[in-house]
Amino acid sequence: LMQVYRPLNFIGFVYRELRQGLTDIEEMFKLLDQAPEITDKPDAKPLAVTGPVIRFEDVTFHYDSDRPILKGVSFEVPAGKTVAIVGPTGAGKSTISRLLYRFYDVTGGRITIDGQDLRDVTQESLRSTIGMVPQDTVLFNDTIGYNIEYGRPGASMDEVRQAAQMAQVGAFIEALPKGFETPVGERGLKLSGGEKQRVAIARTILKAPSILILDEATSALDTKTERDIQAALDVVSRNRTTVVIAHRLSTVINADEILVLREGLVAERGNHAALLAQNGLYAQMWSRQREATEAEEALALAQEDP
Ligand code: ATP
Repeated sequence: LMQVYRPLNFIGFVYRELRQGLTDIEEMFKLLDQAPEITDKPDAKPLAVTGPVIRFEDVTFHYDSDRPILKGVSFEVPAGKTVAIVGPTGAGKSTISRLLYRFYDVTGGRITIDGQDLRDVTQESLRSTIGMVPQDTVLFNDTIGYNIEYGRPGASMDEVRQAAQMAQVGAFIEALPKGFETPVGERGLKLSGGEKQRVAIARTILKAPSILILDEATSALDTKTERDIQAALDVVSRNRTTVVIAHRLSTVINADEILVLREGLVAERGNHAALLAQNGLYAQMWSRQREATEAEEALALAQEDP
């Protein structure tokens, strides 16, 4: 019987792994192109989470050896706190989130969670500890309810509904004729970027990870959507150790610490007020973004009241 059972069990395993991967399918295709194989050490242990405290210690990294991307990055995210990473495009911000999820190994220095080097723990335990809300969530061709429940398969309908409410997407779903049974994805209802991101947040609320990585979408959002997403993020990041690749002022202002990354190095660090007072790169980025926001609001007002 075992001879029949083993291959079946293996097929089940492959199927589950594939489904897992599909959540982040674009990311996966990008990675399949170049990623070296990350494997567990023979003596890898499950990650033991107490804080969790994340530490980057003098981390260096390159995708191609002739082009360094991170050139010695150190920071700590204390338990339950939020660190935001900002900086010009190409500075290496998303690379930091990929290293933390261990899509790649560092080329120098180390990353630890509660003192354990990521290379010494099993990938399975690492990834079940981390909830990742990517820039662009790819939904399964299934119901919207299934897409949320996926965060914790077996969750009850009540729990799914509650997660949707907390993620500020519940009212939107309840208003659909088929509610949580509405098919979404390529062959179903197409959701906007902001709606998809809130579905991803609902999924993460159900997963209840102790670490959260959030890669904010760069695309411009209208003020209401931005406010809804911010409210959802406040819920999901509360008391969780959070790293956010931030593009929006609303996220950055609330962070416990902000790192300004430039050309693979931390150029400035501090909270919003301290960084403004430094009057450097951050202060410049901030005033440029504020001007853009004010211009947008003036335009919206003019359109409402011609
Ligand atoms: P953005 O704000 O535009 O998203 P970022 O700061 O997040 O930028 P990263 O995505 O971390 O930047 O990329 C940093 C650099 O690494 C970029 O120059 C990018 O071209 C390069 N890079 C990213 N992924 C790969 C890869 N898989 N292979 C080779 N180079 C890569």
